[in-house]
Amino acid sequence: MQRSLPTGWSRRRLMTALALAPVATAGLRLPADAAGPPAAQISAETARKRLIAGNARFVAGKSLRIDHGERREAVAPRQMPFAIILGCSDSRAPPEVLFDQGLGDLFTVRVAGNIADDVALGSMEYAVEHFATPLIVVLGHERCGAVSATLETIAAGATPPPHIASLVDAIRPAVEATKGMNGNALDNAIAAHVRQTVDKLKGSGPVLAEAVAKGQLTILGAEYHLGTGRVGFMT
Ligand SMILES: [Zn+2]
Repeated sequence: MQRSLPTGWSRRRLMTALALAPVATAGLRLPADAAGPPAAQISAETARKRLIAGNARFVAGKSLRIDHGERREAVAPRQMPFAIILGCSDSRAPPEVLFDQGLGDLFTVRVAGNIADDVALGSMEYAVEHFATPLIVVLGHERCGAVSATLETIAAGATPPPHIASLVDAIRPAVEATKGMNGNALDNAIAAHVRQTVDKLKGSGPVLAEAVAKGQLTILGAEYHLGTGRVGFMT
């Protein structure tokens, strides 16, 4: 997009000024709950409330019409995401859409079954160390195909192809922990997998575990409901 610059402003000077400005407030036309100070200056609770407010807008069909052009320019010099989302690759569960956030808001790690393998952990550690992001959300979702496939594979005693086997192995503990429980086996396994992943992240040293111990990082589980659009945070 083209925008005219103030008299005497070079593009370089404008970008320098934007780099020094709080990124989250650089996005224009956002309501109070969608804009604020950069990640390092907000609490995990404020970040959680910002996600909840965005999801409420999405559920109500009142998502913001974020001007991605303006936001793109504002965050181009640097990013300061206020939340890290470890979510599933499922095409129906994109965090930026269901939390109604724009460019630069969410540091997103997506892999089938929202699995915290070494690469995912390294990605999240990078964000915690470089952006002081105060909140990680492990986001599972209803009818997750990766968890469903794990249930079926274990029930059949089948041997999946090697790379898919890595997904099954990562989700297997949740299936085993919920075996025989009342209720829907898939729902139970999805919730257990989120909780187990939250615990794994909390104990992942040194970066995440130390940040949690210092009170600089909160890690929460949540589940996205495909039909209603609602994200429920676990307590
Ligand atoms: Zn999934």
